Amino acid sequence: MRKNPISASIDFEQDGIQHGFLKLPYSRNDSAWGAIMIPIVQFKRGNGPTALITGANHGDEYEGPVALYNFALRQDIEQFNGRVIVIPAMNYPAFLSATRVSPIDNLNMNRIFPGRADGSVTQQIADYFSNTLLPIADYVLDIHSGGKTLDFLPFAAYHSLPDREQEARCAAAARAFSAPYFIKLVEDTGGMYDHQVESMGKVFVSTELGGSGTTSPNSIAIAKRGVDNFLIHAGILNGESIESPDGSIELDMNAGESYLLAQHNGLVDPFVNLGDHVKKGDLLARVHSTERTGEKPFEYFAPRDGVILTRHVPSLIKMGDCVFVIAEVVTEPVTRTVAEVAGFLNKYAKNNRH
Ligand code: ZN
Repeated sequence: MRKNPISASIDFEQDGIQHGFLKLPYSRNDSAWGAIMIPIVQFKRGNGPTALITGANHGDEYEGPVALYNFALRQDIEQFNGRVIVIPAMNYPAFLSATRVSPIDNLNMNRIFPGRADGSVTQQIADYFSNTLLPIADYVLDIHSGGKTLDFLPFAAYHSLPDREQEARCAAAARAFSAPYFIKLVEDTGGMYDHQVESMGKVFVSTELGGSGTTSPNSIAIAKRGVDNFLIHAGILNGESIESPDGSIELDMNAGESYLLAQHNGLVDPFVNLGDHVKKGDLLARVHSTERTGEKPFEYFAPRDGVILTRHVPSLIKMGDCVFVIAEVVTEPVTRTVAEVAGFLNKYAKNNRH
């Protein structure tokens, strides 16, 4: 078996703050002896656990990279007890080209785990995670959002796992992230990073924090706060966790009828917004023919009661595109007074200087 060609310019056993690269040799037309230099930062102090935090597993999702390039500016190593390894853009070639999958081998990072040491660029990065980074991690956070084609209500998620004790630890960490929404997922897609991490017994949290190929101050604040909360929960970072000012609403999207797929090509005419509560049978969208005027539009109705969790972003849709996802509301948020919300925001502002 060929050895993975990636080498780290930082020493994972060394205390302190180290900025560096994962260097992956990649010979190509514009750089004969070149390498892909994937940025990495490590904070290490004391004997606490290790957290591995990533963004841009998909290259067009930005809350993770923005929050993590911010996190990398921290200088307060005295606040750490343990090790935090941060890779703001996991699929770095995809991130640089602002595409979901890698422009080099056309591979989706989150469908090819555990990866291959002797494979293509994306497979080699995945293999390095599987065999070098994950074995030294205890807590793993992978920050996703909807990318250019989807937009999500901001949520933290954990998976239904055969090991109930591990599932409970993942659920507690996802709850601690304190996104405005919180979901348990049943996932059977092959090759996901998520399953690789979970199969190794780690505590794993994933997120979807917005999308549309951009960010907002609100979605960035959720990501930054969530990273800190996750590390405080893990006992690695000192400080007081900051809850979502609106509380956290628990959703469920495991029923098959949660996903509404397009059965026509055309132009979307939406009738609902993200976060709207809908009843089964409500009109969600009309899809107009783009080929001629005067055609009766196709109508899409809610297959179930729930809240609009996800919407398709480009207004032109194609057969098989995911138009909406409707999630079931499990618990409503706690009601807070104006003073309580102001208190949370104040606390957040104070803790958000880095
Ligand atoms: Zn993603």
